Amino acid sequence: MSAALLVEDLVKKFGTGKAAVDGVSFDVPAGEIVVLLGPSGCGKTTTLRCVAGLEHPTVGRISIGGRVVSEPQRGTLVSPRERDIGMVFQSYAVWPHMTVHQNVAYPLKYRRKNTSGSADIDTKVRETLELVGLGEYAQRPVTSLSGGQMQRVALARSLVYRPQLLLLDEPLSNLDSKLRIRLRDELRRILKMTGMTGLYVTHDQSEAVVLGDRIGVMKDGKLLQMAPPGEIYNRPADSFVANFTGAANVLKGKVLERKGEQAVIDLGAAGRIEAWTPQPLVAGDNAHVALRAENIRLGERGPANSFTGRVIERRYQGMQTIYDVEFGGQRVEVLELGTAARHNDGEVALTLPPDSCWAYRDEGQATVD
Ligand code: ATP
Repeated sequence: MSAALLVEDLVKKFGTGKAAVDGVSFDVPAGEIVVLLGPSGCGKTTTLRCVAGLEHPTVGRISIGGRVVSEPQRGTLVSPRERDIGMVFQSYAVWPHMTVHQNVAYPLKYRRKNTSGSADIDTKVRETLELVGLGEYAQRPVTSLSGGQMQRVALARSLVYRPQLLLLDEPLSNLDSKLRIRLRDELRRILKMTGMTGLYVTHDQSEAVVLGDRIGVMKDGKLLQMAPPGEIYNRPADSFVANFTGAANVLKGKVLERKGEQAVIDLGAAGRIEAWTPQPLVAGDNAHVALRAENIRLGERGPANSFTGRVIERRYQGMQTIYDVEFGGQRVEVLELGTAARHNDGEVALTLPPDSCWAYRDEGQATVD
């Protein structure tokens, strides 16, 4: 598949400070949704704004549909209007003095792209309103709609002219949590039905996982890993990626040996632990092992990484129970699904499956607030 969007070595500096985007490269093949995920200030919005043409890159090259649209070194700059993109933002950018139908028809009238007269415009608007679930609302003043409905109008307005690329910047973050989940799932269906190519920016992991064919995790202007959601979750290339996507347990130790992608880490009093590592660790390195609470098995012994520990505290939460477990001076949080708590306080066997333990060089940056 051809790349609908290609971003190469993008750097964006504001003034003389640190780069807001620092050497970011990725592509979005036609029909794919790529999500940029990261904490506030990591540079995801600036990356999207450079793609949109709302910011001028300091260095790098951006191509949309095979055409270079930004290449500051060569003075190339295609204006936002000429980039054939659609944009949906956090704020519902709709025209308040127009009806729903008029809002969605506007870009077609304005662009006159792929349309042949007002009957055709009407058909396209109606089809798109059906697609976003607003078929009944065409003649309503847009100001009479709820926030979620207004965001659907904004989406319909960007989809109606079938842009080459749709850019979405935290489009669901102004909605209450129930609606956010519903619209998130619907957005996935709509984007896939239309075969839209999209770049989506969020700090919300669940949105990233549901919407992204691939997720790019950013920190301090850098793209740390770009991969399908399953790979981000099961093979985090970096300690920050592991932590940001929910691997809250961190065990400190020292590397004893490494064989290929496997490392053996000495955890001191607790003993040794086998882990997967994406890094070229060597014996003697200070390292930490990250793992998810839901990957630890309580009351079970396996062929490797089994320990005897103690349940220190339990928090029953209805659909799941969280246990704080201590073993050999280490403390981990364990999550078990199910409506009944299965373990009492006191001694318990626990297994940390080697495949779910990920070792990284200790650079003193393992946790995220
Ligand atoms: P958020 O989710 O909070 O929007 P983000 O990951 O999208 O965060 P950006 O908005 O891209 O991050 O900001 C990246 C960095 O660039 C931040 O340090 C921000 O303060 C800085 N920045 C963004 N826009 C400007 C600007 N117009 N002038 C100066 N600095 C800016």
